[in-house]
Amino acid sequence: LPLVDFSKVSKVYGVGRAQVIAMDEVDLAINEGEFVAIMGPSGSGKSTCLNLIGCLDTPSSGSYRFKGVAVGGLSRNQRALLRRHYLGFIFQGYNLLKRTTAIENVEMPLVYRGYKKSVRQKMSLTALKEVGLEGREHHTPAQLSGGEQQRVAIARAIATNPSLLLADEPTGNLDSKKGSEIMDLLTKLNQDRGITIIMVTHERAMAEYADRTVHFLDGRISNIQNNRVIHQ
Ligand code: ADP
Ligand code: ADP
Repeated sequence: LPLVDFSKVSKVYGVGRAQVIAMDEVDLAINEGEFVAIMGPSGSGKSTCLNLIGCLDTPSSGSYRFKGVAVGGLSRNQRALLRRHYLGFIFQGYNLLKRTTAIENVEMPLVYRGYKKSVRQKMSLTALKEVGLEGREHHTPAQLSGGEQQRVAIARAIATNPSLLLADEPTGNLDSKKGSEIMDLLTKLNQDRGITIIMVTHERAMAEYADRTVHFLDGRISNIQNNRVIHQ
């Protein structure tokens, strides 16, 4: 059973003459444990696809199943619960709380999940260690480099043990060395922890870390490239 299963998924925004077909009958299956990159020009449907996969939105037609569950039939609250249980998100701009320390940022999703303070701190420290930020727990984002801020965001995303990590241009604000370090970390999380990763990127060099690259063009998949050859 695929973790992510799109069957003829379309997404249409707007009505009448303003209507935009952002995704056009897309079929795509991603298995547990895979690392998949999504590429394509601006406006080709990458964000729409990531939003659907992340259960932030539902298809206009077709079926999207996550872990076998038809997401289109779920209420907004049910989708929020699904995200809370199974998904982690990271972004180009890190999305950290500015006046809050690294460990407090990582604790935030654990607060929503009802863990008590001592347990939250233990889980957050473990996650921060895992991303290589031991000793930086009490720094605020302004006291950390861009690469370190992204590590905090990754720690926050994995502290809850998600099945699937969704990454939207995670290296977009980093130079290529810092970007490669983040990709090495994501590869480690994929291989050691078995976290499935789906990442949107504009950078071919970053996409090559993934097992497969799905190319979008005009709301359709134009090509799926197997990167295992590159990895050997
Ligand atoms: P990027 O191409 O860098 O991933 P986005 O995915 O945010 O950027 O946006 C891609 C295109 O979709 C842009 O042309 C943007 O104007 C449009 N777009 C994104 N979100 C909305 C929205 N909520 N309403 C209208 N257009 C949007
Ligand atoms: P990408 O991430 O590849 O840049 P998007 O998925 O953001 O592409 O956008 C695909 C198409 O859908 C674009 O034409 C974009 O302008 C349009 N679009 C995206 N989001 C919205 C929205 N919320 N409302 C209206 N149009 C949108």
